[in-house]
Amino acid sequence: MQLRYPSGHTSEAYVTHQAWRSASLPGCPLHPKGGCDFARHGSYARVDPPGTRIARWYCPQGHCTFSLLPDHLAARFPGTLGEIEAVVAEVERARSVEAAANALRPDDVTLATALRWIRRRVRLVHAVLRIVLSLLPDLCIGSTPTVCSVRARLACEPVLTALRHFACCHLQVLPRPLGFLPPGGDHGGRRTHFQQRRGPAPPQGTR
Ligand SMILES: [Zn+2]
Repeated sequence: MQLRYPSGHTSEAYVTHQAWRSASLPGCPLHPKGGCDFARHGSYARVDPPGTRIARWYCPQGHCTFSLLPDHLAARFPGTLGEIEAVVAEVERARSVEAAANALRPDDVTLATALRWIRRRVRLVHAVLRIVLSLLPDLCIGSTPTVCSVRARLACEPVLTALRHFACCHLQVLPRPLGFLPPGGDHGGRRTHFQQRRGPAPPQGTR
């Protein structure tokens, strides 16, 4: 289960200061009255951005791992929210998705590959912004579900990182890359975040 870590760091500072080491989770989210063997469980590495690690905890009674995801990182998606937002904003400002793809793609990436890569990000971000607008109508009043519109409304950038704060009460029901809802977790309402449990204990040997 992912939880928010409002570390306040940029991506670079998070790695430089190894800020996962100072992340704290005072009690077990499954057992607020205590009584379980909830404990820190090292950290795990994210491939992107390089050098990034995520602090985690484990409750053996609940068979549940808890990860503290810093606000700048995309959830269940590679990279940072700022990187994803920049791509989507470029598309929103471009004449067409194809024009944005040609502007963004390196020479060794085909247009078809770049389009797939871009459309996936646009689809995910616009979908989660539509939900944010419905959950926080007062905050987003007058906005359309686009990065550029919500940026203008909230006067901040990257606005997806800011939305981790503004939508903090809803992160468990918001999809990636902003929220922590597991893919497929919104189908039929049968799975909740507390049912995202793992059977065996996570692998050891972490830092
Ligand atoms: Zn527990």
